Amino acid sequence: MFDNLTDRLSLTLKKLKGQGRLTEDNIKETLHEVRTALLEADVSLPVVTDFIERVKIGALGQEVQASLSPGQSLIKLVQAELVKVMGEANEALNLRATPPAIILMAGLQGAGKTTSVAKLGRWLQENQKKKVGVVSTDVYRPAAIKQLQMLANEVSLDFFESDISQQPVDIARNAIDAAKRKFLDVIIIDTAGRLHIDDEMMGEIKALHAAINPIETLFVVDSMTGQDAAITAKAFNDALPLTGVILTKADGDARGGAALSIRHITGKPIKFIGVGEKTDGLEPFYPDRIASRILGMGDMLSLIEEIEQKVDKEKAEKLVKKIQKGQGFNLEDFREQLQEMQRMGGVGSMLEKLPGMNAVPSDMKAQINDKMLARQIAVINSMTMQERKYPDLIKGNRKKRIAAGCGQELHDVNRMLKQFLMMQKMMKKFKSGNVANMVRGIKNNVRGMRR
Ligand code: GDP
Ligand code: MG
Repeated sequence: MFDNLTDRLSLTLKKLKGQGRLTEDNIKETLHEVRTALLEADVSLPVVTDFIERVKIGALGQEVQASLSPGQSLIKLVQAELVKVMGEANEALNLRATPPAIILMAGLQGAGKTTSVAKLGRWLQENQKKKVGVVSTDVYRPAAIKQLQMLANEVSLDFFESDISQQPVDIARNAIDAAKRKFLDVIIIDTAGRLHIDDEMMGEIKALHAAINPIETLFVVDSMTGQDAAITAKAFNDALPLTGVILTKADGDARGGAALSIRHITGKPIKFIGVGEKTDGLEPFYPDRIASRILGMGDMLSLIEEIEQKVDKEKAEKLVKKIQKGQGFNLEDFREQLQEMQRMGGVGSMLEKLPGMNAVPSDMKAQINDKMLARQIAVINSMTMQERKYPDLIKGNRKKRIAAGCGQELHDVNRMLKQFLMMQKMMKKFKSGNVANMVRGIKNNVRGMRR
């Protein structure tokens, strides 16, 4: 997400670096380029105009800070404006209702409603320990009901049956009653969408809203629709008292304009972004982190949270204990680590969030792909257990055998061993301390960097 905008902005702001101070002239030129970058990212015009005006006022009125170069001061201003446009802070879901808290999903067909119902259910289950039920009122497409049922089963959410012969309002009421009897904390109601805004659809969802009075009414919108996303958002916002937005398919959107326009146009917070097709592809939306990501500062905090969540903590603790006891980090441990990375969605998704990664050419990034992980694991797989435990054994002939065994070259085996040695060295450093401390350490470092 935001690749193009990031590339443009970092190039523009880099040009300012050498200059002594911010003047009306050099600001003018830079802001012109920022403006073009935003428009190309498909941010809607009124938002861009407003944005540029505010950065300009800020830049001209600003005392020159001795510690910052003009480029840096402008980055700071642009970053602050980006955060402001996107809504300052993450706004959490409001679930303070007599249970079950009702969440209604609205949006066009294909926006990602059904997928988001399952993702959100899973997220609430995993992160807030909520008991969540889901139901579909999409009585136009039997396949859509089936789709939700399958997703719900996959992530163990309570699924309430519905049928295309029923009325959406009745389906929702029945499900809410059933959820009450089962003492569920939350019920998420999926709805039908159309390809375009039409009165019938709006009428139907308005009636549904009035009948069930949800505490959250979330507008689900496909970020890849760019300018259209802003227009649809306005139409839904006029028809329904929206409480928030889920911006989907951010993983496939290089422009990112919708994230900047929607808040401005609807006044409603983006609460989550969809970042993948699978049910774990949902993240709370943090304006400051996204702004940093746009400016190429990476998103270390999201990354660390992801690592904390997805790494198998028990396994990690075991590994640390083992190392503390003085038993060395061996190739079997390394293999487990590589597999862990694979499970976390691979190297690619981690790299994207690291600071400075936008400076790495994209063809190079593509090379550091998940195939590499699989190849390294294959090398270890073709070793005997003894070799994995005592890597020092691996010399000439054994190396050849291992290479042949996994269908790779000798230098592939050597490269893998070299990386293993580097990792082993790092692991020795962590000898004193546990995983929690390690993670805390990284976090503090990152916070320091961000200041
Ligand atoms: P609905 O018609 O609004 O219910 O939309 P669906 O939930 O059926 O989603 C439409 C398509 O978008 C499906 O193929 C989903 O897999 C895909 N999709 C939804 N959210 C995301 C996302 O965040 N990222 C990606 N890559 N695909 C998504
Ligand atoms: Mg659907």
